[in-house]
Parts: sequence; C-alpha cells; structure tokens
Amino acid sequence: MSTFLLEIVTPDRLVYSEQANSITVRGVEGELGILPGHIPFVTPLQVAPVFVKIGNQTTAFAVQGGFVEVRKDKVVILAESAEKATEIDLERAEAAKSRAEARLGASRQDEIDHRRAELSLQRAMNRIKVSGGN
Ligand code: ATP
Repeated sequence: MSTFLLEIVTPDRLVYSEQANSITVRGVEGELGILPGHIPFVTPLQVAPVFVKIGNQTTAFAVQGGFVEVRKDKVVILAESAEKATEIDLERAEAAKSRAEARLGASRQDEIDHRRAELSLQRAMNRIKVSGGN
C-alpha cells in the first residue's frame, strides 16, 4: 500500500510526522479524503477531527482550524493547536465547554465576545469528540 509523509505542525511543536496511507479532514467546503498522489492544493480547515489511516489503524487528532497543504512530497496540516486523543485533558475541555456555554447564554454581550465564545465551544467540543467523551 502506498503512503505519503503527513506532518501536523503548530506554532509550538511538530505534533505528528508519519507515513500515512490516507487522511480525512474537514475543509471549509466539507469532508475531504486525501490519498497518495493527490494533486497539490491548499485549503482552510474547520475546527474538526482529522483521521489518519495507517494500515488498518485509524488515529484521530483534534485540529483547531488552520490549513491543509498537499505538496508533491508530503501533506502538511498547519494549525493553531492540535492534539491526539491521548494528549487531551478531557476535564479541561469539559470546563472550557461549560464556560463557553455560560457566556453564550448570558443576556447582554457584544459580538466579538459572542464569536470568541462560539470558537471556544467549537474547540472544546472537538477535543471532547476526539478524546472519546460526549
Ligand atoms: P482553554 O480555555 O482550556 O485554555 P482553549 O481552547 O482556549 O482552551 P487553545 O487556545 O486552543 O485552548 O490552546 C492553548 C494550548 O493548550 C494549546 O497548546 C493546546 O494544544 C492546549 N490545550 C487546550 N485545551 C486542551 C485540552 N483540553 N487538553 C490538552 N491540551 C489542550
């Protein structure tokens, strides 16, 4: 089975670097499967899980936005933050979710705070999903 090098990179660290058979990401226009030999392109990502297939194993990552870039020699996911399931602190994500929900439920709020709370909720829910919580 052919592979390509996948790198998941954040401003802090190289989160992941492995030969993969395929990945599934959620781009701005929806779900996208990437196989070896895909034509080069770049697209923004939603805050959503990224699934990496190697052999019959699938590994999920919580990827908080960013971009996927398919190059001739490798695929790079560049995100503000990304964690694999075992790196996620579920309690922290649950707390972030509750905080964001409380902010969204508060009556008076300016638009920027509302948007920030929505984005924070998306990140928390993404992490909860990937870590196997509800
Ligand atoms: P919080 O409000 O809990 O800080 P956040 O969504 O604001 O959550 P980010 O700004 O997205 O956090 O991330 C800051 C750093 O903390 C990143 O390095 C990210 O990987 C890490 N991080 C955030 N939440 C978690 C979590 N639940 N488990 C593990 N690492 C986390």
